[in-house]
Amino acid sequence: MTDEPETSQTRMARLILALRSQGVTDPRVLEAIERTPRELFTPDLFKERAFEDSALPIACGQTISQPFIVGLMTQALTLGPRDRVLEIGTGSGYQTAILSRLARLVYTVERYRTLMREAEERFKTLGLTNVITRFGDGGEGWAEQAPFDRILVTAAAPEEPRTLLAQLKPNGVLVAPIGKGPVQSLRRYAGDGQGGFKVELLGDVRFVPLLDGVAREL
Ligand code: SAH
Repeated sequence: MTDEPETSQTRMARLILALRSQGVTDPRVLEAIERTPRELFTPDLFKERAFEDSALPIACGQTISQPFIVGLMTQALTLGPRDRVLEIGTGSGYQTAILSRLARLVYTVERYRTLMREAEERFKTLGLTNVITRFGDGGEGWAEQAPFDRILVTAAAPEEPRTLLAQLKPNGVLVAPIGKGPVQSLRRYAGDGQGGFKVELLGDVRFVPLLDGVAREL
């Protein structure tokens, strides 16, 4: 008797269990992850590993985030179905796709044209019509569309992202990895309605850095 190869459903079920045991318990977040085929966002070479709970390389020297971190950050955003969300660092578009299932509109910014185009193709394939993309420097936010209910930064900001915080609604929430080194601190900023923020630390994470300007290479 040979072992049957595992189906995608089995692998996904195991991933969801692993995320839940690590504290991603919001059923809406878990459902959004379950409905988003991560193998569509990983390069051919790594498709076999799409269901593993690890970050994987994508084009342009960047990475697709670890599912647990995607779950943790999405849960920390406490998204409502009417929310307009700004995401900085589209990358593969995996995190964007998950946000798009939980929010009304997702505005996402990427500094590599190649990554942006590939992500746009994936949004089309999945029929995600509430994602608005922009090639540019996400550190500047998206002033024309501000203020946002929620902001998610998926690249490490060297320090408190003041420009982005200024584009948040008074009671909004921003989640971002902050730090200059290889390990950063994941922070959640919750607006107090009067221009101040309550800051919560969610743990250590490893993200590629938020860089200034757009990439010159494709
Ligand atoms: N959320 C992504 C992971 C992104 S990795 C995913 O699920 O696949 C971080 C991304 O941020 C990279 O694609 C990088 O190019 C992008 N990035 C870094 N600095 C940026 C900036 N200033 N503006 C826009 N995107 C930026």
